[in-house]
Amino acid sequence: MSTRAGIVVTGTEVLTGRIQDRNGPWLADQLLELGVELAHLTICGDRPAGIEAQLRFHAAAGVDLIITSGGLGPTADDLTVETVARFCGRELVLDAAVEEKIAAILRNLMGRTDPGGAGFDSVRAANRKQALIPAGATVLDPVGTAPGVVVPGTPTVVVLPGPPRELQPMWRRALDTAEVQQAIAGRTRYRQATVRMFGLPESRLAETLREAGARIADFDALEITTCLRRGEVEMVTRYEPSAASSYTALIELLRTRHPRELFSEDGALVDEQVAELLAGRWLVTAESCTAGLLAARLTERSGASAHLAGGVVAYSNSAKTDLLDVAPTLIETHGAVSEPVAEAMAAGALRRFGADTAVAVTGIAGPGGGSPDKPVGTVCFAVLLADGRRALRTVRLPGDRTDVRERSTTVALHLLRRVLLDRPLAD
Ligand code: ATP
Ligand code: MG
Repeated sequence: MSTRAGIVVTGTEVLTGRIQDRNGPWLADQLLELGVELAHLTICGDRPAGIEAQLRFHAAAGVDLIITSGGLGPTADDLTVETVARFCGRELVLDAAVEEKIAAILRNLMGRTDPGGAGFDSVRAANRKQALIPAGATVLDPVGTAPGVVVPGTPTVVVLPGPPRELQPMWRRALDTAEVQQAIAGRTRYRQATVRMFGLPESRLAETLREAGARIADFDALEITTCLRRGEVEMVTRYEPSAASSYTALIELLRTRHPRELFSEDGALVDEQVAELLAGRWLVTAESCTAGLLAARLTERSGASAHLAGGVVAYSNSAKTDLLDVAPTLIETHGAVSEPVAEAMAAGALRRFGADTAVAVTGIAGPGGGSPDKPVGTVCFAVLLADGRRALRTVRLPGDRTDVRERSTTVALHLLRRVLLDRPLAD
């Protein structure tokens, strides 16, 4: 037996593409993790007729659960609760406790902007609408001002607010209710595991997966999704606990076939691994084509103070010379995009900042800067440690400026990781 759900994202601004839907994908991911199959995700405008049509569509598809997003506000175009109540054949009832809760929140909010409280009564009247609850529904306490509701039935309908920062905590509350638990009781309890590989063409992974299919018993019980992200291959596998030994066999095969490329077996990102390896170190970055993006990425998780002394963005030759002590003759001889210059940038940065770990990136990310022997996408990297360990590398990355820059930061992190781990570089 399995459990299926449908998602209705409401909002004319989402339908017209003025804002990008963040709730559908987020909820889809939550359902996937729970082992609830998502049958359909639909988007409609704010009109009740549209919302009702979607509800009918999902119900006709035989789902156990429908989740709606948006339209819980106080304004006239926020009609989701009313529409859901009608669809479920339930009256709207004013819930005094909910009304008081909303009033308290509003009093608190307006206390800051309207200390005299003159506008309170009219605001309160407008928000009374938000305290109208379908009879027999379970109220989900507001995260902003709007409460959500769970209407039990076949299907059970969960009504959530539109702003993602409100929807996400409220979905967790909805999940705790007996009504939702009952609706998803038949879900399959999957395990999900993620591994990551770097420097492995998808075609070679596909070859290994074909081999796995031929050699591993019960391989079909593994539901494998691979995707390319930031120049890495991410492989997500879902399986029922009974297929655990097939998954173990798959990982063993990956280890054997791609020992250098398989860098994460627990789903950890290279960013997290590097942050851990940098503990107790003092890092500096010297960047040209990535314009500080590497420093930004290195501090995304842990903040600068953890290990980043600082960084230099040096585009012009004179900046490389003046700020990083790169010898002009080196640039003349090898060109600004070259391993010797990357190495000199790293060495200069290490010295100037009194750091013990340096990463340098110099490359051609944008159109126009390329030459026959160094086309756009050519990027040189250097990692240098105070104890003399180092690694140099040149790669040619595909894509436009954004792709090249982003992938450059990925390559830099992997090069840094390998040096910190004292591992030889893959070819
Ligand atoms: P409010 O009380 O803010 O009106 P609401 O529950 O009525 O909340 P909506 O009116 O549908 O929600 O949306 C309010 C705002 O929340 C939107 O203008 C948008 O910024 C954001 N939002 C709504 N739905 C989505 C979505 N699917 N993805 C991303 N943002 C969304
Ligand atoms: Mg609204």
